[in-house]
Amino acid sequence: MPGLYLHIPFCRKACTYCDFHFSTSAVREPLLHAMEHELVQRSRELGDAPVGSIYFGGGTPSLLPPERIAAFIQLANDLLRVQRDAEITLEANPDDISAEQLAAWRAAGITRISLGTQSFRDDRLRWMGRAHDAAQALASIGLIAKAGFTSWTIDLIYGLPQMTLAEWDEQLAIALDHGMPHLSAYCLTVEPRTALDHQVRKRMVSMPGDDAQSAQFDQLIERMEVAGLEQYEISNFARSGHRSRHNSSYWSGEPYLGIGPSAHSYNGTTRRWNVANNARYLRAVEAGEAYWEEELLTATDRINEALMTGLRTAEGVDLAALGEDVLGRHRSYIQALVSKGHGQLLGSRLALTKAGRHFADRIASDLFLDADDR
Ligand code: SF4
Repeated sequence: MPGLYLHIPFCRKACTYCDFHFSTSAVREPLLHAMEHELVQRSRELGDAPVGSIYFGGGTPSLLPPERIAAFIQLANDLLRVQRDAEITLEANPDDISAEQLAAWRAAGITRISLGTQSFRDDRLRWMGRAHDAAQALASIGLIAKAGFTSWTIDLIYGLPQMTLAEWDEQLAIALDHGMPHLSAYCLTVEPRTALDHQVRKRMVSMPGDDAQSAQFDQLIERMEVAGLEQYEISNFARSGHRSRHNSSYWSGEPYLGIGPSAHSYNGTTRRWNVANNARYLRAVEAGEAYWEEELLTATDRINEALMTGLRTAEGVDLAALGEDVLGRHRSYIQALVSKGHGQLLGSRLALTKAGRHFADRIASDLFLDADDR
């Protein structure tokens, strides 16, 4: 089912590793008005399709006053066929969480909280430049559960410099002790032009090797499996009934409408991305000028994207449904994958095994079609 994404491009401070689009200025009402304008202008792009999810991402959407969130949800309901039981997620940072805020978000229509925890250690949080501390992270989890949210998730980061398996295990144990129904765990990567990138180039920070990160990934999978959380996507783990509907719709190639600076949209054939600059976005929306670029995907692009996202999921990808003879072209490669224990083929559906998930991106790109293959 299609989804709606709203990018709230403001943060209290910049985290050292982050390359998302955000500004550390105060939340600016004119920009939120421009986003409403964009939603009104573009709502027809989803046609009459039922909308199964709304996702407030960023940036830091929990900086918005709850009434602003309620207004966006109301507008979406007025313009789109939002399902009565739609999943409506708000990304929130621990320093914005209080019992009052949580009650107000629930009243506004939020059904799921995605908590930007990242770590339960003060030294790591300081190093990452996060605005919260470990006590706030733990307290927020307690408050979310008490506020009656049945679905919520936390983010954790592994692969940090000098992180040991014992440290990572302790982080996972703390998360599990707090009964999280869903976890997104990301390996730290050095993105160009971030503060972390600068520190690594200046040799102020030395990143761990692939072996350490890979061992932590194995530990993560093992721990979650024992605790009964399914790895339904490479970085995402859920108890039964708690998969993220919104993110799952991206991975299964559903259309989505992305609103706000830097937001991406996909309508089944075209990918479009808004300018990642608040001032330029605002000026262009107000002037009625283009604030986006777009690319018409070829059939080959769509097949390659389905391979890239599908192979990251537990269900894998139905090669026969891709519309090209991917199975025929890559029969010996796929046979080798299966005999190495990196993949399994059920009918025409290829899924990666635990061992194969370490190499998901490389395997997908090995299976890519070239433009000349068609
Ligand atoms: S709060 Fe989130 S979006 Fe903002 S800088 Fe930190 S990681 Fe990036």
